[in-house]
Amino acid sequence: MKQLSCDLLVVGGGVAGVCAAIAASRSGVRTILVERYGYLAGTGYAGMLQHICGLYLNGESFPVETLNGGLTQEIVGLLKNKAPKKSVQQIGQVYVLPYCAGDLQNVFKDLLDAENSLTILRNTAATAIVAGYGNTWNVTLEASGETRNIAATMVVDCTGDGDVAAMAGAAFELSPVDERQLAGFSIRVSGLESRDDSLAIKVPYYCTQAVERNILPAFMKFTTFSFGESPDECFIKMSREGKNAPDRDERALADAQALFAYLGQVLPSFRQAVITGTSQKVMDREGRRIGGDYLLTEDDILAARKFPDAIARNAWPIELWDRARGTLYKYVPRGEYYEIPFRCITVKGMTNLLTAGRCISVSHAALGSTRVMGTCMALGEQAGRAGACFIRTGNFQFAAGDNHEYFRHN
Ligand SMILES: Cc1cc2nc3c(=O)[nH]c(=O)nc-3n(C[C@H](O)[C@H](O)[C@H](O)COP(=O)(O)OP(=O)(O)OC[C@H]3O[C@@H](n4cnc5c(N)ncnc54)[C@H](O)[C@@H]3O)c2cc1C
Repeated sequence: MKQLSCDLLVVGGGVAGVCAAIAASRSGVRTILVERYGYLAGTGYAGMLQHICGLYLNGESFPVETLNGGLTQEIVGLLKNKAPKKSVQQIGQVYVLPYCAGDLQNVFKDLLDAENSLTILRNTAATAIVAGYGNTWNVTLEASGETRNIAATMVVDCTGDGDVAAMAGAAFELSPVDERQLAGFSIRVSGLESRDDSLAIKVPYYCTQAVERNILPAFMKFTTFSFGESPDECFIKMSREGKNAPDRDERALADAQALFAYLGQVLPSFRQAVITGTSQKVMDREGRRIGGDYLLTEDDILAARKFPDAIARNAWPIELWDRARGTLYKYVPRGEYYEIPFRCITVKGMTNLLTAGRCISVSHAALGSTRVMGTCMALGEQAGRAGACFIRTGNFQFAAGDNHEYFRHN
């Protein structure tokens, strides 16, 4: 079996993992990033999303600065260079950055290519992890039928679902399927006859009708509609069961086609339209939440709580995609933000394993806020920096009380 070694292994090349890998490499430690698929940015690429959330304060005035500095701010700047016309937008009570998934891929590629201490293994999945000799991990990687073993001093789990930490024996919470947030599957449609703003109401309305007539499955009553970049283009986001059934991607695609055919019958705007893209797979909003040394709660978020070991700021509301009622929002007080402590990315009882992104130590409700991309990027960067700090010094420098200055950018 082929053997590899590195100081820091990042598993998962979503927005959190890419930021963790860049930050670790910039800190000078030998870093490997492994990603199961051929693309980077995870849900941020494969989900056909249009906005990066969690970047800004929701105050009275239009935000100029991102809430988190460092890499998050840098990525936003690079995205703006690629698409100067895409500027901050207000949607209801929040501010978001429109983006194009291709631009995000290119920004990540440029940043990753600039790193000398970093190796990226695409189409490679981590399938097992065991404690190795001394304070190391042995991680098994599978790629196109080939198995490799990698020895790493520090592992950062950025798999979204906490795959690696769970395999390592970490405690985790996973909401029962009937309480879990709904997953999503998007389709992009081109060739709408005309830009009719009422489609944002009509499409969800007709989806509800189709569900009531048993043409479409139940959760599709929570379908949303938004226009794309050109006036004849739109995105339709379908809600799906948050359960990983073997055929769920095929079923989502079949339902997308049924929905599209139905819209063609009831809405003249869709008669000449075609489906020009879909999500790569059904995308989960909620999976395992790995148990850390602190569990961030709804109360922390709504009270805009601050922490001495804070590593990231967020003002995104608790946005829950509820199975019975659709999207529910609970807002951070206007103009305020809460902080995420370092203890949310540690793994209880394990020193050389960190988490970042969607799978950190938060409650079911708190995840509704922390899971957005802007926050996942900041968490990824901090996990990469903290991991590198551990490799260099043997600790996270918290005992010395200088964590605040070390991890904070602001
Ligand atoms: C339907 C939907 C709509 C959303 N809309 C928005 C939005 O509009 N704006 C916003 O900001 N956020 C949105 N989000 C949330 C956001 O996109 C995600 O929570 C965020 O991107 C998660 O980033 P991540 O890096 O933690 O995980 P992921 O994006 O899930 O990335 C994890 C990566 O790890 C890889 N991986 C997993 N297991 C392994 C393994 N064993 N070995 C190797 N690789 C592995 C996966 O292939 C994946 O690429 C949405 C989420 C969903 C599901």
